[in-house]
Amino acid sequence: MELIDGHRIAAEIISELKAEVAALPGRKPCLALVRVGEDPASVSYVRQKEKTAVEIGIVGRVLLPPATISPAELFGLIEQLSADPAIDGILVQSPLPPHLDELAVFRRIAPAKDVDGLGTINFGKIAQEDESGFVPCTPAGILELLTRSGVQLAGRHVVVLGRSLLVGKPVALLAVQKKAWANATVTLCHSQTVGLPALARLADILIAAIGRPEFVTAEMVKPGAVVIDVGINRVPDSTKKSGYRLVGDVHFPSVAPIASRITPVPGGVGPMTVAMLMKNTVKAHRQSRAT
Ligand code: NAP
Repeated sequence: MELIDGHRIAAEIISELKAEVAALPGRKPCLALVRVGEDPASVSYVRQKEKTAVEIGIVGRVLLPPATISPAELFGLIEQLSADPAIDGILVQSPLPPHLDELAVFRRIAPAKDVDGLGTINFGKIAQEDESGFVPCTPAGILELLTRSGVQLAGRHVVVLGRSLLVGKPVALLAVQKKAWANATVTLCHSQTVGLPALARLADILIAAIGRPEFVTAEMVKPGAVVIDVGINRVPDSTKKSGYRLVGDVHFPSVAPIASRITPVPGGVGPMTVAMLMKNTVKAHRQSRAT
């Protein structure tokens, strides 16, 4: 078994972007990070994104509206950022407080600045195989991990567990594209799938994105399969100072010995998500210069 090291591959992408940004004449790319309220996970994610942006030479502009912001006020802020020529990319950190409709918010972001790729136009571009769009960062990171690890998708059976807009659906749409780096045959499973363990066992490449700690066990994995674990789950652990530890959707101790390659949690898909956000921001900047 070989570990797919997300930290190493993400660092490679970040260093490529650093060189690309350093070579840009004039204005540097600018990413607006909107964090509504004080959700502790969001505080840490936005801090990490800002830090990585700065490391690359991207200007990070952090906006911190209160959790009580009204939908109309948040729409107004997004429209203002969308119209600002100094800003290339806009990310609204999820989750939003319950009174705000996330999809409605994502749809307000100008498609040319929607670097999280969750608005209608960019999502549609994935289905249309239009590479001018922005692919959501986690699925983009999964494809990049596979490609850079030399895993061929063409003609192979990819089984995706989970059909969310954020991960499962876009990763399935990407893997099935009529492109040399894709061309896979895809099965997309969800909570209503009958016979999921047997379907998972057919996978040459198994992508687990369901948010259920250690759900995928060795009996559900074909020996020699490539396993991508997207899940990030906190499970109680009294031996840790924090009181919890992070595990994926895959039971790593039993699956790793039979997989040909596997991503760890943490340190697999997670670091790629931030790297791909930066890659999308630099792409948005390049495209805005070209217009
Ligand atoms: P989500 O929106 O909750 O979607 C979960 C999906 O899994 C749904 O399609 C659901 O089916 C399906 N599902 C749930 N339980 C199932 C079961 N027992 N059997 C089969 N399918 C089941 O989650 P998400 O946003 O896609 O995230 C999934 C996991 O990835 C989470 O642990 C999340 O923290 C993690 N994540 C990690 C990153 C990263 O950067 N590494 C980024 C995003 C998410 P239904 O549609 O039928 O309900």
